[in-house]
Amino acid sequence: MPDALKHVAIVGGGYAGMAAAVTLAEHGVAVTVYEASPTLGGRARRVEINGVALDNGLHILIGAYRETLRLIEQVHPSPADAPPPLLRLPLDWYQHQHLHLRAPALPAPLHLLTALLTAKGANWSERWAAIRMMRALRRANFHLPQDTTVSALLETYAQGPVFTQHLWIPLCVSALNTPSEKASAQLFLNVLRDSLNADRAGSDLLIARVDLSALFPEPAANYVRARGGEVLTGCRVTAVDPVAEGFQIMAGGTTRTFSHVVCALPPHQVAAFLARISALSEVMEMVQALEYQPITSVYLQFDGDVRLPSPMTGLSGGVAHWLFDRAAICGQRGLIGAVISAEGPHQELTQDALAERVHAELASHFGPLPQLKWQRVIAEKRATFSAAPGLRRPAQKTSLANFWLAGDYTASVYPATLEAAVRSGITCAHGILGRSAAL
Ligand SMILES: Cc1cc2nc3c(=O)[nH]c(=O)nc-3n(C[C@H](O)[C@H](O)[C@H](O)COP(=O)(O)OP(=O)(O)OC[C@H]3O[C@@H](n4cnc5c(N)ncnc54)[C@H](O)[C@@H]3O)c2cc1C
Repeated sequence: MPDALKHVAIVGGGYAGMAAAVTLAEHGVAVTVYEASPTLGGRARRVEINGVALDNGLHILIGAYRETLRLIEQVHPSPADAPPPLLRLPLDWYQHQHLHLRAPALPAPLHLLTALLTAKGANWSERWAAIRMMRALRRANFHLPQDTTVSALLETYAQGPVFTQHLWIPLCVSALNTPSEKASAQLFLNVLRDSLNADRAGSDLLIARVDLSALFPEPAANYVRARGGEVLTGCRVTAVDPVAEGFQIMAGGTTRTFSHVVCALPPHQVAAFLARISALSEVMEMVQALEYQPITSVYLQFDGDVRLPSPMTGLSGGVAHWLFDRAAICGQRGLIGAVISAEGPHQELTQDALAERVHAELASHFGPLPQLKWQRVIAEKRATFSAAPGLRRPAQKTSLANFWLAGDYTASVYPATLEAAVRSGITCAHGILGRSAAL
């Protein structure tokens, strides 16, 4: 079908759906995005608390997220004098009171070797064990003949307690949102390959200076609309039915027909959505087999300055994994965000008790603190799928012609991340455009 006759319905306005929409609109294909919520962004979206624009969860990007970073740049109008929407920090792994790795301005992999060799908090034998592991993994091109867990991988390479507890496990939990004893070593290695092992910029950490809806989905919607596309918010799709001319989409009491569909829903909603389409039973099986992990964010707003040693500080031994100094990141004075990734004992606490615990940890490390004005806990119970070894993930191209799947749970070298979501959306768009789909 010529591109001019295509009209693509994209169901879901998260990062995956909006990446598909931007790529199609860029190539002159008509798109209509349906987003159920009034706010675009899905699991990476703005929430307003006490008049402050925050996120449903504090997100970290890495320099290796090349497609996400490319699309963010593509859709941002970026007047010359505006600050970039992302704060870019060269690799500086700071686990308070335990481990500090800083990568010097050297080409990869020398920057990493130097960071490991000069790691503060670890002894020589631990540093050599880490270097030996990275060298062996590089020789194997970061490929495992058989997937296993991250814990088993660390044991195989005899990693010492400091690097295990304060580098590899926090890195695994942050990147895969899955405890190391359950997490896929292969997915972990894919992240290491493209971040720590690739060019120096790949290991940079990036934190949004704007909220996550303003970072990509909202400017993406402006980009799509400027090219004649539609982005409908607060518009939930209630049914999709294959018909002779393509697909009928029912939303907001009206039915429209499209040539193609990109289903960009969160995985736990996909099965119900596809139940009427028998050709997709294999996808249904894979999606129904997924298990989920939570991510909890705790915001503490103080009535005065609280400055942390770094914009992002890692903690070990308590409930909070990472602390974000929002004043340093984006000028939100006195605001500290804490992230707790994956499952754990923190889930047994009430939200108030959890916020108090994080407050107490902050005070014990960096106190005394100014008066607390307010606190808020946002628990995303199904933040990501559990990144188990050997997990089967559905391809973006389905067995039903012109019906595509986008989302962080679809086939990817990455775990459930913004980059997996964005790449899946681009893959769908490339497939619809008749280009080579692989990314
Ligand atoms: C708290 C938290 C912290 C995270 N931290 C990080 C991080 O640091 N780094 C990182 O890379 N990733 C992180 N992630 C993961 C990342 O946010 C996700 O991988 C990504 O946002 C998934 O995007 P998606 O488009 O695939 O799905 P979603 O964002 O879930 O988008 C699906 C969209 O579909 C919409 N929808 C649902 N039903 C309908 C319907 N019937 N009709 C129309 N629309 C519908 C939803 O409202 C939603 O907007 C985090 C996730 C969470 C929750």
